[in-house]
Amino acid sequence: MKVDRLDYDVVISGAGPAGSVCAMALEKSGLRVALLDKSSFPRDKICGDFIAAMGLRELYKVNPHLEKRFEEYPCKVINRKTRFIVGNGREIPASWVLKSYTIRRQHFDNILLEEVLNKGIADFYPESQIVKIRPDKENLKIESRQGHSFSAKMIIGADGAHSIVAKLLAGFKIDRKHYGGSVRAYYTNVKSIDTEENEVYVHKKVTPGYFWLFPVSPTEANVGLGMQSKYITSQKIDLKSLFFRFIEESPLLQQKLGSAQMLGKLEGFGLPFYSKRQKVSGDRFLLTGDAASMIDPSNGEGIMQAMVSGRMAAEFTIKCFEQNRFDEAFTQEYARLLHNRFWREMKIKSLLVNTLANKPWLIYSGAYLCDKSPLIKRAIQKLM
Ligand SMILES: Cc1cc2nc3c(=O)[nH]c(=O)nc-3n(C[C@H](O)[C@H](O)[C@H](O)COP(=O)(O)OP(=O)(O)OC[C@H]3O[C@@H](n4cnc5c(N)ncnc54)[C@H](O)[C@@H]3O)c2cc1C
Repeated sequence: MKVDRLDYDVVISGAGPAGSVCAMALEKSGLRVALLDKSSFPRDKICGDFIAAMGLRELYKVNPHLEKRFEEYPCKVINRKTRFIVGNGREIPASWVLKSYTIRRQHFDNILLEEVLNKGIADFYPESQIVKIRPDKENLKIESRQGHSFSAKMIIGADGAHSIVAKLLAGFKIDRKHYGGSVRAYYTNVKSIDTEENEVYVHKKVTPGYFWLFPVSPTEANVGLGMQSKYITSQKIDLKSLFFRFIEESPLLQQKLGSAQMLGKLEGFGLPFYSKRQKVSGDRFLLTGDAASMIDPSNGEGIMQAMVSGRMAAEFTIKCFEQNRFDEAFTQEYARLLHNRFWREMKIKSLLVNTLANKPWLIYSGAYLCDKSPLIKRAIQKLM
């Protein structure tokens, strides 16, 4: 279907947490905003579904009303603990002061999008996959696979790990040294789980990486395995086979998943780590979330960074319009702000991960020390 060109000030590519939070933060800007997504919603996103307390705090800063909405939302579990199962069964329980949620992304992302749509902040175009972006003198010409044509002064890339905006405008290419691979499935009829407690399995069979079991209800769990891509490639690891083998060979997992059924299938997705500085801004564009490679290299979490960068991109976009500046020299300031907010912490975590990679004995010794000394355990917990 061919339609006339749709004119906007800002096009946001992708309605995940980065895109929806960016739109929310543009609410009072007076700008005409289009939010495009290649999927129709609600849609699933392959993820561990763990929304850390820090991420929730950042979200409520942009939209305080969401705190109550999530508190009342029934299809979630409150998470206050993590149990680390190290090696062949050393169990290290940890509890957290702040509460986090585990909530299926199908629900979480849809709630954020509903907030945007209910407030009329942006025009939403589902099933609009951006395939072409052409810079013009005054604008960007944006085309979707479905035949829509848009023009905008600015585009925000919030389109995830396979971002077309990052690829076309920032020249992004996957660097396996700074990328992860992962697989995930939902199981039902899971036994012996505590909904308040996420389980993280650290074992030489799955390092550098980890296996997780995150309850999403009293009988269902999000189960997955993630690992650094450079090891997956160099060791020729088949992540899906390793996932099933790991369950089969773990007596503890057999107890929990032995009689459980998989819902749907085991699916894989990429993790662009924030362990290298990427180009995140340029002429008429800013990147956010996974499109800006912002995933924490130590645990694979990226939702908090997606929401914070979404908010920061909105604030910077408002500045661009106030000063009528959309050029690379000006938008570089956004890259600097993002860097100041996250780089130091991510670099330290990345160094730690690389030190521990291929040295499971070091992790096992750390676990032993945690077990013996509450002081060491508290120090490591703080780092996380
Ligand atoms: C297996 C796995 C487990 C994870 N577990 C966790 C976890 O438990 N906690 C956590 O914090 N993080 C986790 N992450 C990371 C987290 O999923 C991401 O960091 C987060 O989804 C990033 O949000 P985003 O908005 O940047 O991108 P996304 O959530 O990927 O959203 C991008 C959106 O863009 C749309 N899109 C893509 N291409 C186009 C296009 N060309 N045109 C229009 N729309 C497009 C997509 O349909 C999608 O809706 C996990 C990741 C993986 C792979």
